[in-house]
Amino acid sequence: HKKERLQKVIAHSGYTSRRKAEQMITEGRVKVNQKVVAELGTKVGPNDQVEVDDIPIEKEEPVYLLLYKPRGIISSVKDDKGRKVVTDLISEEIEERLFPVGRLDYDTSGLILLTNDGEFSQKLIHPKFKINKVYVAKVNGIPSKQEIYELQKGVHQDGEYLRCVNSRMLKIDKKKGKSIIELTLREGKNRQVRRMFDSLGYRVEKLKRERFGSLTLGNLNPGEYRELTPHEVKQLL
Ligand code: URA
Repeated sequence: HKKERLQKVIAHSGYTSRRKAEQMITEGRVKVNQKVVAELGTKVGPNDQVEVDDIPIEKEEPVYLLLYKPRGIISSVKDDKGRKVVTDLISEEIEERLFPVGRLDYDTSGLILLTNDGEFSQKLIHPKFKINKVYVAKVNGIPSKQEIYELQKGVHQDGEYLRCVNSRMLKIDKKKGKSIIELTLREGKNRQVRRMFDSLGYRVEKLKRERFGSLTLGNLNPGEYRELTPHEVKQLL
């Protein structure tokens, strides 16, 4: 076993992000073998005992799950209003403390990753990290070709510039006056898809995330999940 940087070991324990781990170290909250280590750069091996605030960190194995989030679930580890959260869907046999990588709205369904690897999560949700996310939206209207193209050029909404890298009509229901449109986003601003359609005057009635990078929902049903393969984890980073 090789030695690793202390901040990385703390982040990998699922405790926090690497940046916050660095802060904990410089604040003098971290001990290695009972001695405070306040310098960054220190390396530790598997036999060194690491404590944060005098509590040993658990050396958890990293876990990566791909969940098909149903609608009506909060993408968080707890909710003040007591609503169901994504981690409630995970079997108790998985004892690691998992958290979602980024968010999907309460009413949005689809692909979301759960992990205990703080560093992995921070990387994927950082704005610099440009991964394609594919959404399928049902809207209460039939946007024109021009309007659909506007979404790629970018729209202004609440002082923010929102755009997608691809947008296409999948299905039109003339009778009901509704349509189904696919958007590929590289950014992930708050309620971005809903707001992009708002800016054109349409309301999103249903929203599902179908892809995250090269990952798809495959044959999972809502509420089901599977582990990522080590290859899939590597491919994301
Ligand atoms: N865009 C939204 O509007 N909501 C989501 O949950 C994800 C992307």
